[in-house]
Amino acid sequence: MSTIDAVTTPLGGPTLPQERRLVTEIPGPRSQELLARKAAAVAAGVGHTVPIEAVAAGGGVVVDADGNSLIDLGSGIAVTTVGNAHPAVVAAVQAQAAQFTHTCFMISPYESYVAVAEALNRLTPGDHAKKSALFNSGAEAVENAVKIARKHTGRQAVVAFDHGYHGRTNLTMALTAKSMPYKSGFGPFAPEVYRAPASYPFRDGLSGADAAARAISLLEKQIGADNLAAVLIEPVQGEGGFIVPADGFLNALVDWCRAHGVVFIADEVQTGFARTGALFASERFGIVPDLITTAKGIAGGLPLAAVTGRAEIMDAAHPGGLGGTYGGNPVACAAALAAIAAFEDDDLPARARQLETVLKNRLAALQQSDPRIGDVRGLGAMVAVEFADPVTKAPDAALAAAVAKACIAKGVIVLTCGTYGNVIRFLPPLSIGDDLLNEGLDVVASALADTR
Ligand code: PMP
Repeated sequence: MSTIDAVTTPLGGPTLPQERRLVTEIPGPRSQELLARKAAAVAAGVGHTVPIEAVAAGGGVVVDADGNSLIDLGSGIAVTTVGNAHPAVVAAVQAQAAQFTHTCFMISPYESYVAVAEALNRLTPGDHAKKSALFNSGAEAVENAVKIARKHTGRQAVVAFDHGYHGRTNLTMALTAKSMPYKSGFGPFAPEVYRAPASYPFRDGLSGADAAARAISLLEKQIGADNLAAVLIEPVQGEGGFIVPADGFLNALVDWCRAHGVVFIADEVQTGFARTGALFASERFGIVPDLITTAKGIAGGLPLAAVTGRAEIMDAAHPGGLGGTYGGNPVACAAALAAIAAFEDDDLPARARQLETVLKNRLAALQQSDPRIGDVRGLGAMVAVEFADPVTKAPDAALAAAVAKACIAKGVIVLTCGTYGNVIRFLPPLSIGDDLLNEGLDVVASALADTR
């Protein structure tokens, strides 16, 4: 196939050839043209990390306008978990768009919104009565979870954690830990947000019980349970560095919240929908949150988000207090129902656990031969390496950036993350083949070796 054919017939989904193919440098001439237009037309604050013009994606690849085919180990930040342009999602979107594209659920309700709520109520952890509300983005879901918790408890304070990321709106900037690039210069931030120390086994060496005791002591001394509406945490911290807390940490926090009438909110925007090898990461820790926020993987790439939780908490907000013009858009809901069917029918959590084995085996072997990899960690298809000085553990952000840049130049999309910017994370779509994943990891290994 010529480059032009690849460009003019950019059919996405699993029909795309599943190969890494470089026909130009990255970025090629067409991509460069778009990036120049972007620089002139799009606000500088909207960055990008992979300098290509995407024209198609599916299975485990993203194809650019120059005909390059890149291995996708990022899933658009954990969104295309079922696979990009998944055929069932595409068909559902097309059918719904031809039927109606919008009524506003707050004006004229439709069935798909209710069906998504029913599915979330059924699938999220815990067998208590649950209800859901739908929104457009992860940040919006987190904002609404906090609103609901405040209304339910009549209290105002909210606790978030070191290394936490919850979004870029005003309240979620306050909840997010890292200043640059998320918060710097954008204050003042919403009040009554407090930050507690998290569990970061590679850096703090604490047991889950000790890390929880440290956090709970802060909550009791600096806020007081009587003032605290909610404790908000990502079960595995995503943007902060794919930090898996020590065993028992989350369980102790949940127990403390329950004993004090504090709403425990699990932000599963990044960890949800099979990403961690269970439908929800909370299951992997044996916790039952009061509220769960979801987005990203829920709808195969369409914008949709949700808050799901205990019916009596969810019902605390008065009619009209929750919602938004587009929340639970019918096209996004149709996509979500198709994606959720794929998660269940194809047992995608099991596929994520298979990918965990491949990723961890390969990365642990790499760590054996390169002590600059301080830690290999993660759950399911959410695995990362943290680069650090072998002796002092000082974070090595320059190495993470250099490896990521070299991988992209060689046709493998990887993303960095971490409070210290020294983590490379692997978030492949669950539709990637083992061969392609292994080829991507070969490229990571050679990119790392090139830096020695
Ligand atoms: N919470 C978590 C845990 C996230 O990872 C993100 C996005 N990276 C958000 C909230 C915000 O989601 P969105 O970008 O859809 O607003």
